[in-house]
Amino acid sequence: MDIAALRRELDGLKVEDNEKIVQQKSRDFYWYSPLLKRELEHVTGDLIVSPKSEAEVIRVLAACHRLGIPVTPRGAGTGNYGQAMPLSGGVVLSLAEMTEVKSIASGRVVCQPGAIIADIDRATRTHSGQELRLHPSTYNTASIGGFIAGGSGGVGSINFGGLRDFGNVLRLRVVTMEAEPRVLELTGENLHKVTHAYGTNGIITEVEMPLTASYDWVDLIVGFDTFMAAARYGNALACQDGILTKLITPIAAPAPFAYFKRHQKFLREGQSICVVMVAPHALDAFLAFTRREGGEIVYSAAIASPEDKKGLPPAYELAWNHTTLRALRVDPAITYLQSLYPFPNQLALVENMEKMFPGEVFSHLEFVRFDGNITCFGLPLVKFTTEERLDEIIRLHEENGCPIFNPHRYTLEEGGMKQTDAIQLAFKREADPRGLLNPGKMIAWENPDYDYRSEKTFLFKGLQAG
Ligand SMILES: Cc1cc2nc3c(=O)[nH]c(=O)nc-3n(C[C@H](O)[C@H](O)[C@H](O)COP(=O)(O)OP(=O)(O)OC[C@H]3O[C@@H](n4cnc5c(N)ncnc54)[C@H](O)[C@@H]3O)c2cc1C
Repeated sequence: MDIAALRRELDGLKVEDNEKIVQQKSRDFYWYSPLLKRELEHVTGDLIVSPKSEAEVIRVLAACHRLGIPVTPRGAGTGNYGQAMPLSGGVVLSLAEMTEVKSIASGRVVCQPGAIIADIDRATRTHSGQELRLHPSTYNTASIGGFIAGGSGGVGSINFGGLRDFGNVLRLRVVTMEAEPRVLELTGENLHKVTHAYGTNGIITEVEMPLTASYDWVDLIVGFDTFMAAARYGNALACQDGILTKLITPIAAPAPFAYFKRHQKFLREGQSICVVMVAPHALDAFLAFTRREGGEIVYSAAIASPEDKKGLPPAYELAWNHTTLRALRVDPAITYLQSLYPFPNQLALVENMEKMFPGEVFSHLEFVRFDGNITCFGLPLVKFTTEERLDEIIRLHEENGCPIFNPHRYTLEEGGMKQTDAIQLAFKREADPRGLLNPGKMIAWENPDYDYRSEKTFLFKGLQAG
């Protein structure tokens, strides 16, 4: 790789080659997985380039195309599966300087890809009392472009589903990796080529996202004696059509008391919980419903004193993959899985899995709207022992009807969220003919003999109709 020639071509752009900084910016949260930690520890890029505009992105891609240098895009680097890690070195293209919120209208916001999600919400709330429909629990750090290219769903998915669903991204501008990069405006079905594709087929330079009414969400924790009581309550709450919630997260003992250090004073050892975010106008109805269901309110931001609230993270930072982060901080032997408990048997499946691995797997559910039904994902915490045992736990989930989206793999196909097919591959050929965008992440591209047909459940389905 002629990095010196590239540097000359990029004269005037923000470029960083300090070895330590380059290494730091070549990483994401891959270390959540003991397997990826081992496999990807050595990975580093050669240069960080931080364009400030779409025109600069085009300059970088044209130069790298000419010189045959790989480009791996990066938002904030909070992805979990080594998604933003440059397996073949080359340029890490940081979009972190492209943060402008360009326009806000009724039901929509247009912004640059590096905008931090919480900053977008601050702007839309101030402008017109609106907020994004859904966000990852990394709300305060993640970029909107990184969420679209690497995330799946999160806080708000209980009402709107995930990024896989039509309507949750409105429009993307995407720059291709060609001798003369083109700017594509993607809408409708074409958006699915780029969502959760790890930036393997274009650099997102502008996004248009749908908005909904914003609220000062109230954080609550409801305590239960058993995990299944928390899970049943979560399911029943999610099915209450009149109570507006944004987050419903049952978590099994011992995790809450053992790992939520800042909230420990509100919790009992051995207590399972359900973390909830409720709209202020729905609070009374929520409390009445919770009383009727036998839940104990152990924390309510609506009545907690300033002293109690001091130093507490927001409820969503106990949920989604923040649950894992908090567990890992206390016990480095913890890792996790991502599972789906398909409707309508979600509670029976949850109960079955909860019983299967006592003391080894701790249940953690996220209730979501999924294809029009209420069901739940799992992000169970796993006490890691060996790779073989982890594989066995995955196999037992799948054999028992709970698909796993494997967070211990860095390729799209093996991660299991994104299905590759002929249309996806054809778009890759069109948008990145030399295979220079985030190389190594799409098996179907690297290995022409790879058979991408699969009976597996993928979150983001292939693009082939039928
Ligand atoms: C504690 C914790 C909690 C999390 N919770 C959630 C959650 O609730 N829901 C969820 O979905 N995820 C979650 N994640 C994963 C991650 O934080 C989110 O997906 C986040 O939105 C990624 O944004 P980012 O800016 O950090 O992206 P990065 O990690 O920088 O990038 C993610 C992927 O997108 C690509 N990419 C980045 N920018 C662009 C661009 N402009 N054009 C093309 N490709 C691009 C990268 O190459 C990479 O493949 C969590 C992670 C952690 C560590």
